[in-house]
Amino acid sequence: MSAPPAAAALVEAPGAAAGEPAAPPAEPAAAAVARIARLHGALAEVTPMPGAALYELVRVGERGLLGEVIRVRGDRAVVQVYEETGGLRLGEPVRPTGSALAAELGPGLLGSILDGVGRPLARLAAASGDFLAPGISAPTLDPERAWPVRPLVAVGDEVAAGDVLAEVDETPVLVHRVLVPPGVSGRVVRVHEGPLHAADPVVTLDGGLALPLAQRWPVRQPRPVAERLPGERPLLTGQRVLDLLFPVPEGGAVAVPGGFGTGKTVIEQSLAKHAAADVVVFVGCGERGNEMAEALAELSALEDPRSGRPLLERTVLVVNTSNMPVVAREASIYLGITIAEHYRDMGYRVAMLVDSLSRWAEALREIASHLQEMPGEEGYPTYLGNRLGRFYERAGRVRALGRPGREGSLTLVTAVSPPGGDLSEPVTQAGLRVVGALWALDSRLAQQRQFPAVDWATSWSLHAEALGPWFAREAGAEWPALRQATQELLAREAELREVAALVGADALQDADRLLLGIGALAREHLLGQNAYDREDACSGLAKTAALARLLRDMHVAGAAALAAGRDLAELPLPALGRALGALRSAPEITMSAQVEAAERLIASARGAGGARGG
Ligand code: ADP
Ligand code: MG
Repeated sequence: MSAPPAAAALVEAPGAAAGEPAAPPAEPAAAAVARIARLHGALAEVTPMPGAALYELVRVGERGLLGEVIRVRGDRAVVQVYEETGGLRLGEPVRPTGSALAAELGPGLLGSILDGVGRPLARLAAASGDFLAPGISAPTLDPERAWPVRPLVAVGDEVAAGDVLAEVDETPVLVHRVLVPPGVSGRVVRVHEGPLHAADPVVTLDGGLALPLAQRWPVRQPRPVAERLPGERPLLTGQRVLDLLFPVPEGGAVAVPGGFGTGKTVIEQSLAKHAAADVVVFVGCGERGNEMAEALAELSALEDPRSGRPLLERTVLVVNTSNMPVVAREASIYLGITIAEHYRDMGYRVAMLVDSLSRWAEALREIASHLQEMPGEEGYPTYLGNRLGRFYERAGRVRALGRPGREGSLTLVTAVSPPGGDLSEPVTQAGLRVVGALWALDSRLAQQRQFPAVDWATSWSLHAEALGPWFAREAGAEWPALRQATQELLAREAELREVAALVGADALQDADRLLLGIGALAREHLLGQNAYDREDACSGLAKTAALARLLRDMHVAGAAALAAGRDLAELPLPALGRALGALRSAPEITMSAQVEAAERLIASARGAGGARGG
């Protein structure tokens, strides 16, 4: 059996986005050459382009700038140009390419830094000087690099979409699985041995279809899966406030809105480093250039705390450089998520981090305004919510296509930068309708240097209940109770702080002042976490549970002591604060000494109560 022609075409030149007809082949030479009829910023109106397909890639002008068809009306097409359009003139030719913007998927992605349309920045900079020369095309994967490949199929095997054809050691920490592309099946007639380049066939099927080491997939089209599965285990973040109070399942989607300086970038970077993911795809979307360069340099230098190897060996970075026009931002999140889906399909746990989705939405707004589309709320196009919804839907835990059976997940964590930190704005609101968790960052907490500045009063997770049994099994039966005790403590403390602000803390009863004291310790040592402290930056479940338990036990012991007539001043709260601080920066494997020190303080508080009462 050979692959259907459509499937064969998909391997070579993927079709257009979901629901759109596949891009047709280039026009015959006899047809009139399409030319630029109007120019408006990064948009060019092109005519005649009778066969243009939505999202088809085109080459614009004498220099061949990369562009994408975003509207077709009769024989006129509107093209968004991904590169600086300065110098472009009316009448310059536009050439269709016959394929949609596609991600090149194969070994060599890990460790690379790509621009919004998939060009490798490092190799490009080497080729063209310090910046990207306009019109330069460069394959995402280094075509010169040969990879030793371990075939897993033999001549005569029937293979179908998603089957693992071969394995490649992509980096020392990750085995790349070469998959049969979606839509393809057949009988293997030849297995190609030896080190292979991205374009070299791994197997040849009957009918002559050769399946290369790298496949292409159109970025705006979700990669198909066998089955979507419910999230049943958390993606551990290493951040106590998140794992304890607002957990996200593997395959979940989270919005992280926060005003300027509230710690969005630091959180995304902490996740890149510490989240329990096999692969991280980090999309730096339109944030300021110098900040991005710093973040990049930092990420590239980081060591994976689990393997001790460079973090980049399991990371793909997609960034928009400042010399790229705004429309490339629009594409970058789709490129990122397509790469993330590919590793998900191999059976890995993937975390995709976007910083920030607001810059993507602003790009969409700018394009819509150039197109003179009817503006919706705050000038964003009316389809903003729909686009965002379809993007977030690409997160999930799945059973992948093909054999051997594999489960993978794509967890999506998106920073959002609402102007003035106002969560009622359209991008945040559109996100909130579809995500499973909200980690809201608060400017007041950031000003108080309460980091991560996750506002525990307004943040939520729809999954906390469902993940409860997993935590009880893996983190100790007490976990749900500790979570609840922490929530109650924080809620009660907030009420009491309001009262204290009115009547003064001195007017409160000792039991309430004890609660305020424990609450302050919980904020500082349980919720607070220093991203720059080697040990504190990532908290395992055991340490998180220990801190929550020690606070609760001191609260109970202290309350009993007060009830027995002891003075609040006699309780060792300042000493407990110091002990918890020491525990935070102790390595998890040796932390029992710090835990015991804190337990002795609690015992002494209990003793204080017992002595008077007994
Ligand atoms: P945003 O991206 O929201 O504008 P950043 O992530 O750049 O904000 O954070 C601003 C500053 O806040 C950081 O430079 C750092 O000083 C501080 N900060 C944020 N999170 C933490 C943290 N977990 N630990 C220590 N400092 C933090
Ligand atoms: Mg930032």
